[in-house]
Amino acid sequence: MIKAIRGMRDILPPETSRWQWVESVAREVFDLYGYQEIRLPLLERTELFARSIGEETDIVAKEMYTFPDRKGDSLTLRPEATASVLRAVLENRLEKGAGVKKFYTLGPMFRYERPQKGRFRQFWQINCEAYGVEAPELDVEVILLLMHILKRLLPGELRLLVNSLGCPACQMKFRAALGLFLINREGLCEDCQRRRTTNPLRVLDCKSANCQGILHNAPVIRDYLCPDCAAHFARVLELLNRFNVAYELKPRLVRGLDYYTRTAFEVAAVGLGAQDAVAGGGRYNGLAKALGGPDLPAIGFAIGEDRLLELLPQDFGQDLRPRIFVAALGEPARERAFTLVQELRRKDLAAEMDFEGRSLKAQMSMADRLGAAYAVIVGDKELEAGAAQVRPMRNFASPASAAANQEAVEGERPPVAQEKVRFEALVDYLTGKVRSEENL
Ligand SMILES: [Zn+2]
Ligand SMILES: [Zn+2]
Repeated sequence: MIKAIRGMRDILPPETSRWQWVESVAREVFDLYGYQEIRLPLLERTELFARSIGEETDIVAKEMYTFPDRKGDSLTLRPEATASVLRAVLENRLEKGAGVKKFYTLGPMFRYERPQKGRFRQFWQINCEAYGVEAPELDVEVILLLMHILKRLLPGELRLLVNSLGCPACQMKFRAALGLFLINREGLCEDCQRRRTTNPLRVLDCKSANCQGILHNAPVIRDYLCPDCAAHFARVLELLNRFNVAYELKPRLVRGLDYYTRTAFEVAAVGLGAQDAVAGGGRYNGLAKALGGPDLPAIGFAIGEDRLLELLPQDFGQDLRPRIFVAALGEPARERAFTLVQELRRKDLAAEMDFEGRSLKAQMSMADRLGAAYAVIVGDKELEAGAAQVRPMRNFASPASAAANQEAVEGERPPVAQEKVRFEALVDYLTGKVRSEENL
């Protein structure tokens, strides 16, 4: 049998309904803040990422899926979305005109990392990007939007970490100071020994414990901010205070990519191990120009959807729609049931039945596995009487209780209130039941 590629996975039902729920919440909140969806190709010219993310980053140096196409052009499966969104915005002149231009996008990204638990080579992100305005109010609004989405989704406590990376002038001074600090340090990993001259900022997000230890007394960028950048950051913090958004200053927070300027932030979910960042973002005012475009202030964030889904309680985002199972005994009853199922669906009720002539007990097990809210039972007796039995199922719509019901089927099932409903009234009767349940 052919198997999926290492590090790539299938996302299967019922897990997919949780993903749909996460995405629908995100879409809803984006809409509240005036963001519009943009859909992008997964493949871009390699140059786009080399120029935007930075040659010296791990992503570009080691982790991209890059290959020549049939004409020999170098293409790359996107390792992140920010560069692609900006490419699309500039190419289609969406940055023109006054005001903030706001976009979001959902989809898979690709990085050739060593597969490990919770890390995939195809992973999913929810991305937000806003262009055209430099004001710190926009930084705060973007952070509020991110927190809004995460609070709707995650029940636990969230930690917002913020820093300012300054403008290119601040970064140049800081880079020199950091380079000087690192130049005679012993014990840096091999990558960092190279980075301390090529791009010392990248040493800050090295994963090696040795390197992190050495950085303990390193200079921090906040001490190198120019007056404009310092004022911008102070205003961001002032507004976060005003809106009662708790944050922690994290002076060594840098983003994994080279293009960030000024406000940088990360959100971690509390209580789930050391590596529990679920989202990160920041300003990247210089990127448009680096891609050959105009001067265009920009800010955005990415939520790691795979990680987010791991943090979500199992019963979140499940399909709570009341479903109906029509159980039929005998050929004439099956005919009647088949018609009934189609009639129910035409009324937008979710309905299922068995096509294989199973026993009543087996059909009730199917209804339990489906998490059906109601079972309709049709046999010869019911056909003769012109009325079906309608049985409310216990604790529908929860797989845990479906499993419990499964056991109940094997053992003693307690008696449940069953009602006789005439065939001609059945669709209306079930519609009423289901609608009242949906409004609970
Ligand atoms: Zn500055
Ligand atoms: Zn290192």
